[in-house]
Amino acid sequence: MGFDKNDKDVRHLATRAITAGRPVRTSDSPLNPAISLNATFTAGGPIGYGRFGNEGWSATESAVSALEGGQSLIYSSGMAAISAALSLAPWGSHIVASNQGYSGVMTLLNEAQSSGRFVVTFVDISDTGAVVKALDGADLLWIESPTNPALDIAELPEIISAAKERKLLVMVDNTFATALTQRPLEMGADVVMNSVTKFLSGHSDILMGSLSTLDKNLYQALDSFRKINGSIAGPFEAWLALRGIRTFPLRFKQSCESAQLLAERLQAHPKVARVRYPGLLSDPGHLRAQSFMATFGAVLSFEIVGTAADADRVCENSKVIMYATSLGGVESLWERRRRWPSESASVPETLIRLSVGCEHVDDIWADIESSLATI
Ligand SMILES: *Cc1c(COP(=O)(O)O)cnc(C)c1O
Repeated sequence: MGFDKNDKDVRHLATRAITAGRPVRTSDSPLNPAISLNATFTAGGPIGYGRFGNEGWSATESAVSALEGGQSLIYSSGMAAISAALSLAPWGSHIVASNQGYSGVMTLLNEAQSSGRFVVTFVDISDTGAVVKALDGADLLWIESPTNPALDIAELPEIISAAKERKLLVMVDNTFATALTQRPLEMGADVVMNSVTKFLSGHSDILMGSLSTLDKNLYQALDSFRKINGSIAGPFEAWLALRGIRTFPLRFKQSCESAQLLAERLQAHPKVARVRYPGLLSDPGHLRAQSFMATFGAVLSFEIVGTAADADRVCENSKVIMYATSLGGVESLWERRRRWPSESASVPETLIRLSVGCEHVDDIWADIESSLATI
């Protein structure tokens, strides 16, 4: 960890998730960091004030770094992290971003475009040629892959190196994939963002975001921005996030395995028109995903045969799967994405996004079958 690209930690990520962020080991030292509830600190030290630092943040940040590489900063939410990352782009910057993605980011970029803060070129990130073409003359690439909720796959290694050749600042939202699937800093990205709210914390009980970078100057700029902007994480949230990260690799492994099985079963279901999951042989992103991703992830989406109201009914009738937005928790969640007015019009009205949790896969499947039987 740290800013050294060649600083290779040989231990597996599953081990690092458990060993990182522990207090210094001495007789009777605690295994876990304390929850430091302090707004201010005695003068003379490196922290000074509660908006500038907290020992609990540092522990969580080193655990995020153990997974993504580089040095990390945590924020009050994923969107706070994204706002901080985009603060690195000067007024008038030309940004290339995918035309589909997390709706909060889409709204932020559209508003930044209409206020004149940024010029944004939206591209289909699964079309590598079109993305590379859009990079010429641009300043920053914001990329999310797989995309939310369409699950399109960007050819990340190629796109990142094309962007770096053209000297763009490259930022990757790794929330869906996680570090267990792909490590964008190793591919040359400048900043990796995670909504820690999702898989990393894993229990749908906190909001948090993180940024990781190998670049000391970017880190310092982000650290100063957080101090001034004030979008800091609470000490208790930081503690819960670290506790969640301990079991993240285990949870994610289970969820990915179940997602594969469920995607296959859904594909054969007569009331399902289409399934998107990169682990399916028939998925347009399958071969590309297989070439550089270590997992196919734990989120899938499917379109039902029927109307939007039918899709809502399916979600309302589940008993094991919770009917709620978000993803990445131990509990499976689903929803019809277009129930949100902010969702992109290119997302089909009957598309249900399913975040696969850690319940027994047969119980999740039985729940899906009985919910689909209500239409
Ligand atoms: C949830 C999410 C975000 C935003 O994170 P919050 O913690 O909700 O602010 C950003 N990107 C993706 C892909 C997400 O799923």
